[in-house]
Amino acid sequence: MALIECSNELAMNTPNRTRRKALGALAAGAMMATDGVQAAVRGLAFSSNATLDAIVIGGGLAGLSAARQLKNQGASVVVIEARNRLGGRISSQVLPNGQVIDLGAQFVSKAQRRISKLVDEVGLTRVQPHDTGDHLFISSSKATPIRVAADAMPLPLFGKLDMLLANWRFEHALHNFRNDISHLDAISASTFLGKLTHTGVTESFLSALIEGEYCVSLDDISAYELLEQVTSMGGLSGLSNSDQWFLSEGTEPLVQHLRTSVGNGLVLNSPAQNLEIKPDSVTVDTPRGKYKARQIIVAVPPQLYDRIGLLNSVPPKHSRVLAAYRSGRVIKTLLIFDRPWWRDRGLSGRIQHIGSFFNSAVDCSSPQGRVGNLVVFSTARSARQLEVNRSESVRIRLAMEWLREVCGTTVPSVIAARSVDWSADPWSLGGYASVRSLGGWLDAPSLFATHGRIHFAGTETATEWRSYMEGALQSAERAAQTVLFNGSK
Ligand SMILES: Cc1cc2nc3c(=O)[nH]c(=O)nc-3n(C[C@H](O)[C@H](O)[C@H](O)COP(=O)(O)OP(=O)(O)OC[C@H]3O[C@@H](n4cnc5c(N)ncnc54)[C@H](O)[C@@H]3O)c2cc1C
Repeated sequence: MALIECSNELAMNTPNRTRRKALGALAAGAMMATDGVQAAVRGLAFSSNATLDAIVIGGGLAGLSAARQLKNQGASVVVIEARNRLGGRISSQVLPNGQVIDLGAQFVSKAQRRISKLVDEVGLTRVQPHDTGDHLFISSSKATPIRVAADAMPLPLFGKLDMLLANWRFEHALHNFRNDISHLDAISASTFLGKLTHTGVTESFLSALIEGEYCVSLDDISAYELLEQVTSMGGLSGLSNSDQWFLSEGTEPLVQHLRTSVGNGLVLNSPAQNLEIKPDSVTVDTPRGKYKARQIIVAVPPQLYDRIGLLNSVPPKHSRVLAAYRSGRVIKTLLIFDRPWWRDRGLSGRIQHIGSFFNSAVDCSSPQGRVGNLVVFSTARSARQLEVNRSESVRIRLAMEWLREVCGTTVPSVIAARSVDWSADPWSLGGYASVRSLGGWLDAPSLFATHGRIHFAGTETATEWRSYMEGALQSAERAAQTVLFNGSK
């Protein structure tokens, strides 16, 4: 919950342009909430005996985007959403000083063409995270921080050479890994990385980077899953270019935009509870009534399929693989200061800490740098350690203690802060995304292919940029096209 109030002085100092945009976003947010109720009422009208062209379960980026595409082609569609808001793993908040913060997804890269197009369509402002100054690197839970020039790798010479070699071997593996699925899907990604590297220091650095990107322990996924994941981003170059920009208005306006283009047919507060597949239709039960359609798009994370009774409707092998899906773990903590004080100390705000509760930080301050926004991530093992019985206020206190250990005791107090544990969210159960367990590719290579009247969307089902917003949009494109193709059946 919102923690610390901002001073009036700060609110006054925020430039008009930003404040206007922020207030606009706030107003739109309020509108969304009101519309939610209306949409829910309108939604009730659908729960008659009418058979729709499609039902979409899940009002995240994937579900909304699929619904928009279907509506654009004249299809009758209803989107059923469990929460009282749309957007799923996208959620922005406007602080009292007008600053917009992203509690969920935030960064887009130019290589992600669908999300970039949507950003342009909505007319949002891209901001490059501040990167000038030294980064801080801490190699283990007890090591002292070292300052590293922004473009330097924080490894000794032999580690750097080892890294180059590991990089080369990884690229090589990406070329032909699909021919070796039975071996690579049976060994863990950590075993695989161990074989690519010669030194412990490089192995732990590389593992930390990858675990930071995917939010899962490399012991829990197969080498094959890792290679598929990286391939979906266009290879290693995609990985290094994947976190380029954030949006000064936050990511939520993207959701509001899609919501407007979907129009009516949005039903909030309505978790889908059961699916009934009949020869000529699909029926979905919700607390607000039943919905019937010719096709259905399931756009919720796979670890939630069980809740809608989907595991009984797919082949047993698929059901087993889906039941073994693992949620990524991420806790995002946003520390807001009256200014980005680290810049005065020649620091970029980028921190990487292996083995701590908090494993990375990035400066996402407003472009003018009037307010300092340090975004701190706890992912994978770090999140697992941090999440145990800790409330939001305790996490924020621990984050501040950590920052003082890393940057010195003169770190000023925050003017506002938030910390969200996505694993505790019942309608996400984690983030950035969930992944297949070991052996899952071998058992069910085409897990998300259309099954009768059931189509799958959601970032986990994407073949491009899986686990990113871009992946959600790509999966929606594929699902909507298949629904349209199957339309008359
Ligand atoms: C902390 C965090 C940071 C991230 N950072 C980035 C980033 O910087 N860049 C990036 O590209 N991606 C990022 N991501 C990932 C990104 O958020 C997701 O890839 C994307 O938003 C997924 O969209 P989706 O529609 O597939 O799923 P979701 O957003 O999860 O949408 C699924 C929807 O289904 C609903 N639902 C669930 N169960 C039911 C049910 N039974 N009935 C009805 N509705 C149901 C949920 O409430 C939700 O609204 C981040 C994620 C997190 C958590």
